[in-house]
Amino acid sequence: MRMLSCLIVAAAILPAALSQAQEIIETDTHNLQVVADGVWFAVGNGTLYTMSNALVIERDEDVVIVDSHVTPAAGAALLDSIAVVTDKPVTTVINSHFHYDHAYGTQAFGDDLQVIGHEYTRARLSDDPLNDPTYLRSLDRFDNTVADVEARLAAADDAEARAGLETELSFWRAHVNAQQETDPVAPNVSVSDRMTLYRGGREIQLIWLGRAHTGGDLAVYLPAEKMVFTGDMMLGRPSYMGDGYVEEWSATLGRLKELDIELVLPGHGDGFTDLRIIDYVQAYYNDLHAGVMRLKNQGYSAEEAAARVDLRHHQDSLGISELGADMLAVQRIYDLDDGVAE
Ligand SMILES: [Zn+2]
Repeated sequence: MRMLSCLIVAAAILPAALSQAQEIIETDTHNLQVVADGVWFAVGNGTLYTMSNALVIERDEDVVIVDSHVTPAAGAALLDSIAVVTDKPVTTVINSHFHYDHAYGTQAFGDDLQVIGHEYTRARLSDDPLNDPTYLRSLDRFDNTVADVEARLAAADDAEARAGLETELSFWRAHVNAQQETDPVAPNVSVSDRMTLYRGGREIQLIWLGRAHTGGDLAVYLPAEKMVFTGDMMLGRPSYMGDGYVEEWSATLGRLKELDIELVLPGHGDGFTDLRIIDYVQAYYNDLHAGVMRLKNQGYSAEEAAARVDLRHHQDSLGISELGADMLAVQRIYDLDDGVAE
């Protein structure tokens, strides 16, 4: 096993959104933010592509994690980082949802593993996950990224620029190679509405609040610590909507707000304590859905609606400065309304 550097930086590199003084454990591949005693918010440090955040929860005898990163290599790096802060074994992986960038690292945590997810997540990860459309689109995107960096490198003559591009290229090539090892693991324990783990001196609630980013998002709520890991159901901004239920999403987030929480830990980006962000994102989804449906009912195509829908009144709250919306989000709204997606 590689030697892991363990450096404790007190209140040095604080994410802007987290106001309280916070300790961060730096490993070779992660910044482990100490969000409570024995609870770390694991964020990749850019050494390798992790793509999403994970939560590490220590119990008396073992460790539970929420989400496993994007590839087995990234999952293995998370396992190494966990070994810096505890020698207890990881026995349980909770899937916040089925998406590859949160779930395709699970195999790195071994065979003798409890994997818990919503029954929708189990269905999606059991049914040919390597041909999931969102995953396949990502493979194209990463191939394009490699080709783009290769082209920029070929065109660069400045030595410093070339060195930077070579580093970037090896980073993305390593990720594309790591994808080849992927063998997705489906949950072997499924949840329909809610489940609570009490083992090992820690209460961990897994709650399905309704459809949102996918059909099976779980909020992982630690009531004593007043924090919730939301996966992509709630980021600090609108999430990817290509598999989402935009019409229902705001109501689901309304139920999230009923939890007694002081800190939201999302699947991407910084944790945050300003819960008004949830209100802003709810308003965005409501306005996006209403605006797109208005255009659809006027006879516009999905492409036209994606170009025309105007959400710029969310500029102050969410920084939406351009006309239009994500094509995949708009297509999804059309497909659900037309009954050609479910
Ligand atoms: Zn997702």
